[in-house]
Amino acid sequence: MAVMYEAIIPAKPIETLKGVGPKVAEKLKSIGIDNVNDIIFHLPDSYENLSVMNLAEAENNDKVTVSGTVRTAPALAYFRGGKNRLTVFMEIDGMHVKVIFFNQPYLKDKLPVGSTVRLSGKFHRHKLEINGQRLIYESAGGFRLKYAMGRVMHSKTFNKIVAEVFNTYSFNYDLPEAVRHKYKLLSLREAVRLIHFPASQHDINEARRTIKFYELYTFQLQLLERRNKERVRNERYVIDYDAARLKSFISTLPFELTDDQKKSANEICRDLKQNVSMHRLLQGDVGSGKTIVAGIAAFSVKTIGEQTALMVPTEVLANQHYQSFTETFGGLLNIRKLTGNTTKKQKLEIAASLANGEIDLIIGTHALIEADVLFDKLSLIITDEQHRFGVGHRRKLNDKAYRKNVLYMTATPIPRTLSITTFGDMDVSIIREMPKGRKPVLTYWKKEDEVNEVLGQVADEVQQGRSSYIVAPLIEESETLDLKNVQEIHGMFIDYFGEEKVELVHGRMKPSEKEAGMGRFERLEKPILVSTTVIEVGINVPNATFMVIFNAERFGLSTLHQLRGRVGRSGLQSTCILVSDPKTDNAKQRIDIMTKVTDGFELSEQDLEMRGPGDYFGVRQSGLPQFKLADLSEDYRMLEHARMSAFELSN
Ligand code: ADP
Ligand code: MG
Repeated sequence: MAVMYEAIIPAKPIETLKGVGPKVAEKLKSIGIDNVNDIIFHLPDSYENLSVMNLAEAENNDKVTVSGTVRTAPALAYFRGGKNRLTVFMEIDGMHVKVIFFNQPYLKDKLPVGSTVRLSGKFHRHKLEINGQRLIYESAGGFRLKYAMGRVMHSKTFNKIVAEVFNTYSFNYDLPEAVRHKYKLLSLREAVRLIHFPASQHDINEARRTIKFYELYTFQLQLLERRNKERVRNERYVIDYDAARLKSFISTLPFELTDDQKKSANEICRDLKQNVSMHRLLQGDVGSGKTIVAGIAAFSVKTIGEQTALMVPTEVLANQHYQSFTETFGGLLNIRKLTGNTTKKQKLEIAASLANGEIDLIIGTHALIEADVLFDKLSLIITDEQHRFGVGHRRKLNDKAYRKNVLYMTATPIPRTLSITTFGDMDVSIIREMPKGRKPVLTYWKKEDEVNEVLGQVADEVQQGRSSYIVAPLIEESETLDLKNVQEIHGMFIDYFGEEKVELVHGRMKPSEKEAGMGRFERLEKPILVSTTVIEVGINVPNATFMVIFNAERFGLSTLHQLRGRVGRSGLQSTCILVSDPKTDNAKQRIDIMTKVTDGFELSEQDLEMRGPGDYFGVRQSGLPQFKLADLSEDYRMLEHARMSAFELSN
C-alpha cells in the first residue's frame, strides 16, 4: 500500500536536488529516503511553537517564548571547570526581567544594548527571572520542526532539502477538484508544503486534514479498484430469475422477514440480476436470520434451473446448516450434504445428481472442491466464515462456477470502519436487527464470593428441565494452570449436583471423548456442561438457557459475545452470569459493557474503542495500510467521506 506516497512528483533521485551531493544522499538513503517523493512524505514528527507570547500572561515555571529589548550589557561569569553564566536585563512586555543563559558564552555578542531579540526559556515569576534556553533566529513561521532523522542530519538541514524539492519540482497529482471543493481541502501540494513550512497552527491543522483525506481516499480507490476487478461485467452473469415465483416462495415462509433481511435479500437479488459477477458480504450476528436470506438467493437461482453451493469450514457447521436449511426450505429446494464423512457410495450418488442438475443446493466442507465433484450449472457460491478458508480453496470452488456469483457470510460483527477497511473491495449487506420476539440474553455480573448464589440459579434451571453451560478460561500458554481451573470448577459442580448431571469437555481430551461428552449434553442426557472455550461455533442446544462464565475478565468482548451467543437460541428467556473480580479498570469496564449491551455490532465498536485499532486490527487482519497521518479509529468519518468520494468518481 505504499503507492499513495509514490510518484506524486517525478520519482527522481535525490542527487538531482541542488546542494545534495553523494554524501548527503548516502545519509538519506541510510534512513530509507531514496527519491524525492520520499523526501516530501517524510513528515515532521513534532512542532515546537516558537511564536511569541505575552509574558504578563505566563505562569510561574512556564516554558515561554518572548520578545524584548536588551537594557544592560551582558555580563559573563566563569566558574570552576569552565562552566559559565551570562546575565542580561531586558524589558519584556513592560516588565524588567533578568535573563540568564548557562554555558552559552557566545551569546554575549548577540545581545547589544538596545537590540530587540526573541528567546525561549523557563520563567520564574516570583524572581522575574528567565532561565534562558536559547535565542531564536528563525524568522519565518515561528515553529521549530523535528523530523525523525536517525541522527544522520539536523532537522533544519532536512527542512532545507524539502524546500529544494519544492523549488525544483511540481506535483503530478492532486485530489479531484470536486472533492477538494466539497470537503474544503487544500491542494495536495499546498498541504504538503504547509506541513513542512507552517506559519500557524491553523496551517498545520489544515495541512494534516488534507493529507489524511488524501491517504484515505487513495486507499479507498485501491480497494474499489480491487472490487471492480472482482465485479466482471458480462451478460453471462445475469441471473434472470422468476420474480413471481420468488415472491410466492417468500410468502410461504413461516414468518415476516425483518427489514434488514428484506434489504439484504433485495441487494443480493439486484446483484444476481445485474450483468456483473456478485462479490458481496452478508454480515449478521448469530440468530439474525442469514440462513433465510441465503435461502432466498438459492431459490432465485433455482428458478432458472441453476445451482448453489454453500461451503463451510467444519463438519459441525455443515451439519448445522444442513439441518436449518432443510427445516426451512426442505420442500422447496432439493438440498444435499457432502462432507469428509459422506460414504463413497453416497458421494457417487450425490455427484451424479449434482452433474445432472437435480440438486439445487449442496452444503458441504472442503469435500466440495474435490475434482470429481462436478456441477451442472453452479451459479451461486456461498461461503460461511470465509476468513477460515485459504484463498486457494475458494478459488478452486470458484473455478467450478458456471456464472461466478459469490456471497460471503459471517456471524462475526465487526465495526463499520473495519468493515470498510478489510472488506472495502466487497459490497456489504448487514443484518443488524434481530427477528421479532427474540429475547436478549439477560447478563449479570457476580463476584467470586457470590458463587453459591450462582449454583442455586443453575439448580433452578435443572429443576425446570433446562440446560446450562459453565465456561472456564483456557489460554494456551498457561494451560496447566487453567486446566486445574476447569477441573476445580468441574469438581465444585459435581459436589453440588452429582456426577450424573455434570459433563466435562476440554481441549486436552481426545476428540472422541470430547464428542461423546458434547453428545450427552446435546441429547439432554446431562443438563450441565463444564467446559473451556472449545464450545465455540457449532454447538446448538436450544434448551440451554443458562451460561456461567468464570474469570470473565480474561476474555475480550468479542469472545464473551461469541460465548454468550450459545444461549438465547429459542423463545425462552436466557441468562448469562459473568463471574469476575476484575483487577483493572479496563477489565471492569468490559464486564460492565457486557451486562448492558447485547448488540454484537455495538460491542464490536466499543471493543475497537477500548483496544485501539492497532490491537484490534492486529489480531484480526494483517496487511492494513500504514498511513503517515490518518488513524482509522479516529478518522472514521473522514474514511466514510473518502469512500463516498472514491465511489462516486470510480463508478
Ligand atoms: P443465522 O444464520 O443468522 O445465525 P438463522 O438464519 O439460523 O440465523 O436464524 C435463526 C432463527 O431465527 C431460525 O430459527 C430462524 O427460523 C429464525 N428466523 C429467521 N428470520 C426470522 C424472522 N424474520 N422472524 C422470526 N424468526 C426468524
Ligand atoms: Mg445460520
